[in-house]
Amino acid sequence: MGDHREVERRAWVVVTAVVVMLLGVSLAPWVGERLSGGPGAFGRPSDAQAERLVEERAMRGDDGEFELLLTRSDGSPVRYDPCAPLHVVVNDEAAPEGTDALVQEAVDQVAEATGLVIEVDGTTDLGPDDDERWSGDHAPPVLVVWTDPERESDLDGDTTGVGGSVTSRDGEWFETGTVLLDAPQLQDQLDTRGGRDGVRAVVMHELAHVVGLDHVDDPVELMYPQGRPGVTSFGPGDRRGLALVGSGDCRTY
Ligand SMILES: [Zn+2]
Repeated sequence: MGDHREVERRAWVVVTAVVVMLLGVSLAPWVGERLSGGPGAFGRPSDAQAERLVEERAMRGDDGEFELLLTRSDGSPVRYDPCAPLHVVVNDEAAPEGTDALVQEAVDQVAEATGLVIEVDGTTDLGPDDDERWSGDHAPPVLVVWTDPERESDLDGDTTGVGGSVTSRDGEWFETGTVLLDAPQLQDQLDTRGGRDGVRAVVMHELAHVVGLDHVDDPVELMYPQGRPGVTSFGPGDRRGLALVGSGDCRTY
């Protein structure tokens, strides 16, 4: 890891998270150098509102653990603006067949649990590093890209997905995020019994990283770093964490 990349990482906090299915754990950071748009370059979204779009979710009970990827100095989570829709586009050029609905279901689960409005706007042919993605006045949509380890070395080995977000210059808000999905490995998983639920769980796990959750040690939670048979929906700790990252007031730009 060179100095150049380190400097960029300080300027733009880049959140790193991975999920590994069934086998060993590896940690694969995703990148600072793609963030060529420059800190603070993104303006207020044109569809940001003056009030929350959806009421806050209650944090029920105190069962189950969760961890935040990033917190502010007051201990509150770094989060997305709950007063603007979070837009998502999918690069599905390499997507296994029939996964449109699967991604939509995963998005809906995260939206429901967080109280954020998350809209899948459609498809794109842009990749995570394309300059065009970062060249606008507004933060680009969250990109979910079906790809492979040849194109994205973060997916080397057993890693089936990587997800994370970048923050505003003040480090208090997430601006946009990226989910990399290993299409060949997930195709193999889709072909197994119950595989569709497992693949949807991978997408949910990565989207939960995007909105600000980190891994936990409890294997009943979906934020456990490895996929586990039968754990295909958010656990109690996941839900508490998702409610928290979706809480709070509007961002001021
Ligand atoms: Zn993960």
